[in-house]
This record gives sequence, structure tokens and C-alpha cells, in this order.
Amino acid sequence: MSALIDLHSHTNESDGSLAPAELVQQAARDGVTVLAITDHDTLSGYDLALAAAPAAGLELVCGIELSTKLRGSSTHLLGYFPAAGELTEFRQWVRGQQRARKDRNIRLVARLRELGFSITLDEAEARGRGMTGRPHFAAIMLEKGYVRDYRQAFDEYLDESAKGYVYRQEPTFAEGVEVIRKAGGIASLAHPTRVRGDVVDMMPELCAAGLNAIEAYHSDHTVDETAQFVVLARRYGLLVTGGSDYHGESVKPGVRLGTGYEGNLRVPLDVIGNLRNGVAVASDGRH
Ligand code: AMP
Ligand code: FE
Ligand code: FE
Ligand code: ZN
Repeated sequence: MSALIDLHSHTNESDGSLAPAELVQQAARDGVTVLAITDHDTLSGYDLALAAAPAAGLELVCGIELSTKLRGSSTHLLGYFPAAGELTEFRQWVRGQQRARKDRNIRLVARLRELGFSITLDEAEARGRGMTGRPHFAAIMLEKGYVRDYRQAFDEYLDESAKGYVYRQEPTFAEGVEVIRKAGGIASLAHPTRVRGDVVDMMPELCAAGLNAIEAYHSDHTVDETAQFVVLARRYGLLVTGGSDYHGESVKPGVRLGTGYEGNLRVPLDVIGNLRNGVAVASDGRH
């Protein structure tokens, strides 16, 4: 099997189903030689996986997927730290985000109880730990028979437009880019097809914020979409990144590490070298 790289994956430290060491072992079995763990708003999955990587014969890249606000809509931003280092200030910033999440969860529990559901914060945190989020609340509502399915939990209660929604303090897109770059990282726009609005129109604004890269390769992209994002990246002098966005079989069925849905993903091998060189360029201040 030829070498595969996958720069977008989740562990159960955020909303994935595999423990960090299990994810590394699964990636190695699937032929992945360079894997980035990009958990939502936490580095703990990466930290816990680090020890398992050498035995699996795989190179682990430090990553994160930040939830940010761009023109009022939630927008995911990937951060990559190929030369990991201590990241002291960045970690401190991430802890601040986790406090904002906890604060939201306290208010969300109160709101859901007002709506008549018997749910506690402890129950939710037993599932999500440091990254407890709405998907965990949806799972509890489903388990207790309050909703028919996950979809209904979001549509009626948890979605931004639904009656159980409570506000969460989120960093702006520009702040996300700034903290990643200050820490010596590369900021890449995650799964750009999910950005609300016209990404092509937004490019000047995203570049002005200091964006370094676009996730052109993603398991949800068609061949045409990938090609368009590669062209867009080139036009704006950005790097490209890519990955499966693996969350585990129970969360996102059918997605495989390194190859996506039935082999629809193949991240070019030069992406990882460019990412490392990009770090050098970014810290030179030339980009
Ligand atoms: P949180 O970070 O707790 O605000 O939850 C955000 C996560 O909830 C997202 O990453 C999605 O996985 C999920 N989510 C948000 N909105 C919806 C929706 N309308 N339908 C299904 N899942 C959603
Ligand atoms: Fe996720
Ligand atoms: Fe995402
Ligand atoms: Zn993701």
C-alpha cells in the first residue's frame, strides 16, 4: 500500500469515537504514515496520542479545529503546529475557550430543564469531558426518549435557530487565525464547502485576517470542488491541506482514515512538506 497522509481527524477527547491511542493504531492499519489530530477546541487528543505514534510507525502532527465566528456564522478553522513546541500561550488561550464552553453548558442545562427535560451537567460531562458540546446533549435527549432522533434534537432544541439554543462566546475568525499564527502555526480554512456565504467573495477578507491555507482535500468534497479550491488557493498564494475528518464509525459512518468515503480522498504527499516549509515562511513574516 502506498503512503497516505490525513490531516483532519477527531478522537473521543472531542466528538470522535476512538480514544487517541486507538485512532493512531487505526490510522496505521489503514496505511496512514502522517496523521494530524485536529480535535475541536482541545489539544488533549494529540497529547494523549503522542506516546502511541512511534510504536505504530506513524508521524503525528499537532493540530486543532477551532470554532470561530465569521460574519455571524460558525466557521471551523484548522490550526497546524508541525514544530509543536510548548505552545504555552496557545494552550492558555484554549483553556479560556473551554471555560466559555462550560459557562454555556451550565446555561444550556438550565434552559433544557426549563423546557421540561431532566438533564444534568454531570451527565453531559460524563460523555464529553473537556469538550462537552451540543452533540452530547443531543445523545442524552435521544437516549431518554425525549426526541426520535439526533436530527430532531437539533432542529427543535439545539440548533442556533431553535428554542433551546443558548449563546456561546466564540472567538472571531480573525482572532482564531491570529492565535494560531502567534503560536507559530498554520491556519487553514476547514471544509470550505460548509462556510456560510460565497467563499470566493470572502477570500480577500480571509486573507486580510492572515489565513495561510485552505482545506482543499476533504472527504465531503467532490473532485470538482477540490479542484476549485486548489485553484483558489493558488490564486491567493495559500497552501492547501486535506484530510478525512474521521470521527469514528459510530459518529460518521463510512469515512476511512486517509481515503475518505470509498476512496474519494487522496491527499497529495507534498502537502505535508509544504506545510512544514510554510511554517518557516510564516515565522519569517514573509507570508
Ligand atoms: P457546540 O460546539 O457545543 O456548540 O456544538 C457544535 C457541534 O454541534 C457541531 O460541531 C456539530 O457537530 C453539531 N451541530 C451544530 N448544529 C447542528 C445541526 N443543526 N444539526 C446537527 N448537528 C449540529
Ligand atoms: Fe466534529
Ligand atoms: Fe469541522
Ligand atoms: Zn473536523
